Amino acid sequence: MVRFTVLASGSKGNSTVISGGRTRILVDAGLSCRELFRRMKLAGEDPQTLDAIIITHEHQDHVNALSVTARKLGIPVYFTEATHRAWMRWIAPRRQMTYAQWLEQCRKQAAERQAKAELPSSDADPDDPEGPPEPQVAETSASEPPPTPAPEPAPKAKKVKEDPTWLPAVEYFQAGQPFEIGDIQVSPFTIPHDASDPVGFVFRAEGVRMGVATDLGYIPPNVKAQLTGVDLLLLESNHDLEMLRDGPYPWSVKQRVLSRVGHLSNEAAARFLQDDYDGQAAFVILAHLSENNNLPELARVAAERALNERASLLANRLLLADQREPLSSINF
Ligand SMILES: [Zn+2]
Ligand SMILES: [Zn+2]
Repeated sequence: MVRFTVLASGSKGNSTVISGGRTRILVDAGLSCRELFRRMKLAGEDPQTLDAIIITHEHQDHVNALSVTARKLGIPVYFTEATHRAWMRWIAPRRQMTYAQWLEQCRKQAAERQAKAELPSSDADPDDPEGPPEPQVAETSASEPPPTPAPEPAPKAKKVKEDPTWLPAVEYFQAGQPFEIGDIQVSPFTIPHDASDPVGFVFRAEGVRMGVATDLGYIPPNVKAQLTGVDLLLLESNHDLEMLRDGPYPWSVKQRVLSRVGHLSNEAAARFLQDDYDGQAAFVILAHLSENNNLPELARVAAERALNERASLLANRLLLADQREPLSSINF
């Protein structure tokens, strides 16, 4: 069975679980690890069965609990190389790393991974703050002298202290080059957004195609092409243009959100649904709604109106992803 569960969606955290065949992957880890696990259990998903984490881009609402979650479960993280580097700069901002140093670090990590391959990771993570990673970053800054270890720390904790960017395993992918994680085929594609190398995805499992496109300033032709023939479409509907214009954000932030590398408005999402969308999806989920510059009803009405203009699409189920609670799982 194929399952698609949005655990959270919005500027305070994004995360979705996709399972197909024998594989389960977490798309983004934007809540605290504890909250991710709580919501997974609420949705009937066992965190311990996750096989991998895959990341769209390095913004905090997508990576907040990435390291804690990956370490706790001992699972690989899939990034583009540029996103991985940007994430490392965010985690350890005071560490100035040249490209040569970074390569050296990757080599060391790969060697360590190989050496440790036969050792199962313990599930206790002593420095897991069970929350946002910033305090951990501050504590483990590379510029601080290493603390004198009073009790002998566990090897993994020591490693994390030495290198807050340490992950159990890192796998790189490139936009435009499909690959597989277990039984799930992943097609990453470039999206226009103000991050290092942001991507959307089409996932395919057991013949079911699921498109994920949030955090994009507009929908360019390559994204339109990717989002054809999907059975499920998770699409950003971030803000209502009028609410954003009249809202509380400073002008510079409004400009950023409105820009070609910002976020998709209700109006732009509706325009896509009306003019370019092929109507194949059984489910359309509106996502990444702004809490300040949107209302669920405005997003829903804009999309409904767009879909209703096309009578053949009345059977589509339109859903809204929420920031505060998981959306009921969609099963295929
Ligand atoms: Zn976001
Ligand atoms: Zn973003």
